[in-house]
Amino acid sequence: MTQISIKDQIKKLVDLQKIDAEIYNVNTGLTEKPAVIEELRKKFEVSKTHLNQLEEKFKGIQLKRKELELEMKAREDDIAKSNIQLTQLKTNKEYQIKLNEIASIKADKSIIEEKILLSYDEADAVQGEIAKEKVVVEAQEKRYLARKKEVEDEIRLMEDRVKVLESQRKQQLPGVDRTLLNRYEKVLAHKDGLGIAPITDNSCGGCHMNVPPQTINAIRMHDQLVECEICQRIMYLEDDL
Ligand SMILES: [Zn+2]
Repeated sequence: MTQISIKDQIKKLVDLQKIDAEIYNVNTGLTEKPAVIEELRKKFEVSKTHLNQLEEKFKGIQLKRKELELEMKAREDDIAKSNIQLTQLKTNKEYQIKLNEIASIKADKSIIEEKILLSYDEADAVQGEIAKEKVVVEAQEKRYLARKKEVEDEIRLMEDRVKVLESQRKQQLPGVDRTLLNRYEKVLAHKDGLGIAPITDNSCGGCHMNVPPQTINAIRMHDQLVECEICQRIMYLEDDL
């Protein structure tokens, strides 16, 4: 291969690298997007916690009230039973004891009644809080869905950009030597989207390790592609192109 052709090939690889670096960056960005959406979804779920707690509290109040209503029904049955028994009693003493018993059940019943009334007040208060919290959650849901849509739009734009870049890449390929291209692509795939790197201040632009002067001289000879001994990236000199 002649001197001009190696130099020419490096130029083509450098041009290709510009496209490939962007493809790599956009694709890397794309792989991070699902986690961004998942994070937004989780945050929204957390923002519903207070509402869920209030709804649980409301259910709890209703359950407790049902229990109280059953208890009250039981007391009412006891009172009815005692009233029947009252008519069957013979002595005054028995009668008095039964009356006291009934009074005691009635007292219990009115305590339960009081609790039931309080539970209605409590349920009303919680329902008020639920209504307020629903407004908050709805606003948060709107923000979440809007942000999610933004990210989805970003994804579409990025996917479109990759398509454009890939078609640009395809157009550049015919001028590149197959063997060199294979070598470059192999490194590209394994080295974070950077297959060919410039030497800056005697260091490899890929791994930043020092490049010996004889290697730099070899690059200037243009009779072969020289790779970094450390990271295997193809190296070139920017002022040399
Ligand atoms: Zn290197």
